[in-house]
Amino acid sequence: MGTYVVTGSASGMGAAVVDRLRAAHHRVITVDIDDADVVADLSTAAGRRGAVEKVLAAADGRLDGAVLAAGLGPAPGRDRPSLITQVNYFGVVELLEGWRDALAATGAAKVVVFASNSATTMPMIPGRAVTALLDGDAERALKAYRLFGKNAPTMAYGASKVALSRWVRRRAVDPSWVDAGIRLNAIAPGAVMTPLLERQLATPGEARAIRSFPVPAGGFGDPGLLADWVIHMLSPAADFMVGSVVVVDGGTDAWFRADDW
Ligand code: NAD
Repeated sequence: MGTYVVTGSASGMGAAVVDRLRAAHHRVITVDIDDADVVADLSTAAGRRGAVEKVLAAADGRLDGAVLAAGLGPAPGRDRPSLITQVNYFGVVELLEGWRDALAATGAAKVVVFASNSATTMPMIPGRAVTALLDGDAERALKAYRLFGKNAPTMAYGASKVALSRWVRRRAVDPSWVDAGIRLNAIAPGAVMTPLLERQLATPGEARAIRSFPVPAGGFGDPGLLADWVIHMLSPAADFMVGSVVVVDGGTDAWFRADDW
């Protein structure tokens, strides 16, 4: 029995991961903006700091694994690019930096970050914003989105997931992580039927874009199937898996980029 922390635990894929971990008799510390062991608003620096400290206290400084599923999808709104940036990028990297020692303490911890196939299939994601995020500069990233007008939230979403995937791959091979036995990987889902996708499908512009995306397997993914992959990536099967971004998207990425390998 291990101790795991799951962010975005109250809904969708995070909730499906929590169900599976608890069914396997693991201890799970849940983190969400509501309805969780640790209630924290990950869109603020104070909320992120609180989440780091409360989880460390609840876990007695030892974590067998972490799943970072909290995230916001693109939606209209002036403050949306900022919220996406804070939750999807800083709400992952600041938490993991804060939990590193606790993950190292168990010697074989596994971490799974929710990226997205948007990172490889969405056109025109501004590289300048990705670089800014990796530099820790949210303001510079937000400036790059302004040029995109009403598409700014979509670009903020894509850039947050590209930066996150790169951050995962860089940290995964950093000696302070990999030599401590931490196995840091990401999962990149395609369109999966969760409340996040339901909200996007209820927004006409977003719905058109989503429905026009090719999904060779047909339809939308099931959150439980994605959670099954996450559970595998938390198991000893991932001992030799370092910095991988596992795409589970019904074939969308392969459709766009079959030869990009
Ligand atoms: P969801 O909306 O069902 O769950 C996301 C969770 O994040 C919610 O419980 C929500 O309360 C939490 N959250 C949002 N803002 C927060 C904040 N400020 N502080 C704390 N918690 C906050 O979404 P989901 O579809 O299960 O998404 C899980 C992850 O998968 C996200 O990172 C998302 O970007 C990613 N993803 C989803 C899809 C999809 O089609 N559903 C596709 C690719 C990637």
